[in-house]
Amino acid sequence: MDYPELLEATIRHLEEEKARGVRHVNVDREVLSRLARPISRSIARSDASPSVPETAPRPQSPRIEVPGQSAPVSESRRVEKFEPTRVTRSREEKETAMAGLRERAMGCALCPNLAAARTQVVFGVGNIHTELMFVGEAPGMDEDRQGEPFVGKAGELLNKIIGAMGLKREEIYIGNVVKCRPDTPGQASGNRPPTPVEMAACLPFLAAQIDIIQPKVIVCLGTSAVQGLLGKKQIGITRLRGKWMSFEGIPVMPTYHPAYLLRNQSVSEKRKVWEDMLAAMERLGLPISEKQRGYFLQK
Ligand code: SF4
Repeated sequence: MDYPELLEATIRHLEEEKARGVRHVNVDREVLSRLARPISRSIARSDASPSVPETAPRPQSPRIEVPGQSAPVSESRRVEKFEPTRVTRSREEKETAMAGLRERAMGCALCPNLAAARTQVVFGVGNIHTELMFVGEAPGMDEDRQGEPFVGKAGELLNKIIGAMGLKREEIYIGNVVKCRPDTPGQASGNRPPTPVEMAACLPFLAAQIDIIQPKVIVCLGTSAVQGLLGKKQIGITRLRGKWMSFEGIPVMPTYHPAYLLRNQSVSEKRKVWEDMLAAMERLGLPISEKQRGYFLQK
C-alpha cells in the first residue's frame, strides 16, 4: 500500500470510527510524524509505507455479480468506475437477477457498524419492470423495522405524490443509496444521514438495481441521495432540483426529499416538487390533465 492509499484508508477508518461515536484514538509519535510528512515526499519514497502499521485495512466493495453480467458491477467504491451491462433482459431474467442481487445484499456486512446495528437490510421495493424509479438516501428507524423504504410520514407523502401523478406505489420501484440504517450510537431514536464513505460502499448495489431495472427516469429525493448517486458534492438540492442530470445515460430529476416538505409546508415549495414531477411525467410520456398542471399554483 503506497502513501496516498494508506492516507485514504486511514481517513476512511477515522470517519467510520467518528460515525460510531468514537471521539479519541491512540496514535504513537512515530506514526503521527510519518503521517505529517508532505505527500510529495512520501509518494517519492516507495519504502515509506511498510513501517507504518496497517491499522486501517482498505474495505472492499461488494462484488456484485448479476446473471447476464460477466464481470463484477464494481471493484471500486467510486461511481465513476461502475460499468453497466446495459443488457436487455427478459422479465424472467430481470427477476432472477434482482433476486440474486437481493440475496447478496441481505448478507452484506461491508459497513461493520451498520451491519451490527441494523434490524434488516432495506433492499428496495416495487415493480422492477417499471419505467420510473425513486431513489432516497438511506433507511430510517421506521424503514429499518419494516424492511421497506419510505414507510413513515415521509413515505405517506411520497405515496400521495405518486398518486397525484396518476400512478400507484406498486407500479414503480423505490430504492435507497444506502441499504442499512445509518446507526446512531448512544441514541434510542432518531436518524442521521449516511456518510460519503457509507454511500460509496453501498452504491454498487443501487447501480446494479438500476442496471437491472433500466428505468426511463430516476427521481432522486434530497441532497444525500443526489450526492450519493451523482457525486454532486457541496452543491445543495436547492440549486440542483429541477435540472435534468444523468446516471449511466438515464435521466435523473433531483428534487426535495418528502421530509423537507413535511417541515416546510409552503405552497411554493410544494409547487417546486410538483413541477419536478410534471417534468418527469412529460419525459415518461404520461398523460397530464389541466387539473394536474395547476396543482399548487397560487392564484
Ligand atoms: S449499507 Fe450497503 S454496503 Fe454497507 S453493510 Fe449495508 S448493504 Fe452492505
